[in-house]
Amino acid sequence: MIIVMEHNATKEQLQRVTDFIANKGMKSYIHQGDLLNVVAVIGDEINLNAESIAALEGVANVKKIQEPYKLVSRVAHPEDTVIEFSNGVKVGGLEKPVLMVGPCSVEKDYEGLLKVAKAAKEMGCQFLRGGAFKPRTSPYDFQGLEEKGLQYLAKAGRETGLLVVSEVMDTMDISLLCQYVDVLQVGARNMQNFKLLKALGRIKKPVMIKRGPAATIKELLLAAEYVVSNGNPNVILCERGVKGFDSQFSRNVLDIAAVPIIRKISHLPIIVDPSHGTGKRYLIEPMGKAALVAGAHGLMYEIHHDPDNAMCDGAQSLNLDQFKEVTKSLNKLIGRIDYDNKNNK
Ligand code: PEP
Ligand code: MN
Repeated sequence: MIIVMEHNATKEQLQRVTDFIANKGMKSYIHQGDLLNVVAVIGDEINLNAESIAALEGVANVKKIQEPYKLVSRVAHPEDTVIEFSNGVKVGGLEKPVLMVGPCSVEKDYEGLLKVAKAAKEMGCQFLRGGAFKPRTSPYDFQGLEEKGLQYLAKAGRETGLLVVSEVMDTMDISLLCQYVDVLQVGARNMQNFKLLKALGRIKKPVMIKRGPAATIKELLLAAEYVVSNGNPNVILCERGVKGFDSQFSRNVLDIAAVPIIRKISHLPIIVDPSHGTGKRYLIEPMGKAALVAGAHGLMYEIHHDPDNAMCDGAQSLNLDQFKEVTKSLNKLIGRIDYDNKNNK
């Protein structure tokens, strides 16, 4: 249920509404809009009578929300969520799309990672991304450098001035990740690890949730709802493709339509990962462009200083020359870098 307050409702009237909800055993989240305050009621609404609430002083109207996701829906929160980082980078809303790049996994060769980070900075990317805890299909594959990888990533981020993103696979590692990264990624396989999502709701750092390989848009939004309803509003969604029936030419089916759909029904930023979405490096540029045209708030793609020898996902990673070409073309579409005027900022 969503309670829209009148534009001149007083603090006391708002308090009476939230007290009323609390007395019925439910939680309320107040969204302070520019013009109006909106109260979202969370919990089993069985004991809540919409007419009694509508009769409270200061209440303009009461709407039942049909969708199970409430806090991430535009009904409860009409304005876009824009996540702002300490260095001024913003993700979401009408901000220019951001670029997150890096190797699938952080490897032992720090100099290689630094080369990647320097190239990323030179090309105007905002985030360096690399896995230190890797969810691998086979237990015999490289599982990541863990804390050492986080240290390398943070160091490369510091040396180049890039924000850093890395995956968290277990509640046990959340505080460790928080020491090193700016965004904690929830991988596709963990999208419905509800214990992890709840725990990520108790931190303040932004969380990026990747769509599960067989998850619906509704399930993705509900995963985000877990984080937001537990107290962390800083969530970025990531479309990375779902399993289809034809994996001969592309690893997954990248659901570009999910971008405008999510922008319509949710206020959260949505970025697209054409690397895992397709599994092919030559598809990063066309699918990245398609995602930007569809309204993505950013792209995430994999690059490596030596893809042929990468420990993970080399086949879908661009080498640094390819990365520069592709990124130049994406930046032209984004309009952040004015190549013609050589005014690269
Ligand atoms: C990744 O982002 O490195 C990754 C493993 O992707 P996904 O969780 O989308 O499979
Ligand atoms: Mn990968």
